[in-house]
Amino acid sequence: MHVIFFGPPGVGKGTQALIIAGRMGWAHISTGDMLRAHVREGTELGRQAKAYMDQGLLTPDELVIDMFMARLAEIGGRGFVLDGFPRTLRQAEALDAALARDGRAIDVAINITAPDEVLLERMQARAAESARSDDTPEAMRKRLDVQKPPADLLAHYRDAGKLRDVDGRPAVEAVTDAIAAALAAVGPD
Ligand code: AMP
Repeated sequence: MHVIFFGPPGVGKGTQALIIAGRMGWAHISTGDMLRAHVREGTELGRQAKAYMDQGLLTPDELVIDMFMARLAEIGGRGFVLDGFPRTLRQAEALDAALARDGRAIDVAINITAPDEVLLERMQARAAESARSDDTPEAMRKRLDVQKPPADLLAHYRDAGKLRDVDGRPAVEAVTDAIAAALAAVGPD
């Protein structure tokens, strides 16, 4: 199955994507992890992306789409969970086109949600643990606004009947169960 995970920062999207991919034996693709690896390794892509990432901004589509497509080609025909891609409608359209060339399509997009207040509290707790001085309340609110899945992106999947909203507030295991139930309702594999 080909699944996308959407959600704002702090909602547990990455945690859930890893759990579900592991449980189902699907590939897990996180463009954030890939970009962080480029930054660590000091590649040209990493150098360009770092300026955006450090400011809590999205990295431009041109940089992210090629990197993602190379990874998608690597995993072949396997099932996958996408964690952090697509972030824009343009990325979604590039993804649709690439899958369609192989006669494939996204099966379902899981949209994990929580109210801003809950997310800001979680981000504050995380910042306190890591003592990040740049995590002011204003910076967190801005990051939340910038990093939330945009309305046109969600509408793209909602209009196709593929979006499933899942409440991200309960404990991790309860959210995993809700996601597993949503996936089971879509199909067997
Ligand atoms: P994440 O770990 O998914 O929160 O991503 C960390 C950072 O990497 C984001 O703040 C963006 O700057 C960048 N990034 C990751 N995925 C994408 C994407 N699909 N489009 C644009 N920027 C991305």
